[in-house]
Amino acid sequence: MIYKRSSALFNEAKKYIPGGVNSPVRAFNSVGGDPIFVKRAKGAYLYDEDGNRLIDYISSWGPMILGHAHQPVIEAVIEKAKDGTSFGIPTELETKIAKLAVEMVPGIDKIRFVNSGTEACMSAVRLARGYTGKDKIIKFAGCYHGHSDSFLIQAGSGAVTFGAPNSPGVTKGTAKDTLLANYNDLAQVEKIIKANQNDIACIIVEPVPGNMGCIIPNKGFLEGLRKLCDEHQILLVFDEVMTGFRLAKGGVQERLGVLADIVTFGKVVGGGLPVGAFAARKEIMSHLAPEGPVYQAGTLSGNPLAMAAGFAMLDELNKHPEIFEELEKKCAYLYKGLSEVLEKHEIPHTINRMGSMLSVHFEKEAVVDFESAAKANNETFKKYFHGMLKRGVYLPPSAFESYFLNNALSYEDIDFTVSALEDLAPELK
Ligand code: PMP
Repeated sequence: MIYKRSSALFNEAKKYIPGGVNSPVRAFNSVGGDPIFVKRAKGAYLYDEDGNRLIDYISSWGPMILGHAHQPVIEAVIEKAKDGTSFGIPTELETKIAKLAVEMVPGIDKIRFVNSGTEACMSAVRLARGYTGKDKIIKFAGCYHGHSDSFLIQAGSGAVTFGAPNSPGVTKGTAKDTLLANYNDLAQVEKIIKANQNDIACIIVEPVPGNMGCIIPNKGFLEGLRKLCDEHQILLVFDEVMTGFRLAKGGVQERLGVLADIVTFGKVVGGGLPVGAFAARKEIMSHLAPEGPVYQAGTLSGNPLAMAAGFAMLDELNKHPEIFEELEKKCAYLYKGLSEVLEKHEIPHTINRMGSMLSVHFEKEAVVDFESAAKANNETFKKYFHGMLKRGVYLPPSAFESYFLNNALSYEDIDFTVSALEDLAPELK
């Protein structure tokens, strides 16, 4: 494949945009080389500026669960745009999508829409602090909750890819209120709680993390967090920005049967437009302005185009829950294909998967937290990424990211992907 035009566009972009990108992981720093520039996308495929067609396994990092340029979503946005793009005044559509989300997700009565996952998580923590009157939070190493100051402490995703899990610019004062634990280590969480009695407002967790690659919660881990929170008057915040409306209609809460106190969303909920949301029971949400004193606002929050895209997306998922089963089967099929090839060629690996999230770690021991994820062989990952790209398959350009399958992906696309790996495997040894 030729990437001449993409490289030229990247060079031009670097003159005017820091690193040439508006979000760091897009720059391919972790895998090397120039990023591709995309021209358009349809269904399971990306079409780049050099005319290459690529099978897409990132689905815009999650939102495009039904495939790119999905007709009902596109039509909803076009129709809505004809009536104006922003008012800063309430619209009926905001209530319609809020009602639908509350019906789909267990344990929530009210939801507030914002413009990104970062905003959702930042606001959720403020609400937890305002509700409990406590300052500290517990987060897990390798979990990513957006780029708000409190979360850039041992953060996953792009932060670790770029070697800045603790970003300069985050004050010591802020950092001291974020307590760190290892994912899947309940005993450690308990210890931290005991050492900070009456100080912890919330535990924020990606219930199924996707930002150190995909990690699966050990049996009893999420239940254990729920119990500890109940015993110590701590709120449990599930960051379902990746998993919400993806691992099930009602996200991880529904899939694994553990309820959080506050849940955050992003990605799928906006149908590919900039949307985030956070939700909780009535008595928690009533602390939010204008009902309560915890302030949170947004000029473009509830934007009509974003709400139209989000509603079209959620409505289809709600009416066709079989989509989740189809995605599950496709992802299991991909898992089987990739595993068989890697085993046959004796390439040490661990593949974690849940629903339509999956990641390949080039590490033979179980990958259960940030430390074990960081042990994986990044040199092999780089060869894997570029080898697959050369063969027409676009994977996440970092080992600290999850695949997000979309339902436009066909079994033939997956067969093609597995054959590409078969062809590449001898180079990965
Ligand atoms: N939480 C999680 C679990 C995420 O994966 C992300 C983004 N990848 C965020 C929060 C932040 O969302 P956004 O990039 O929309 O600000």
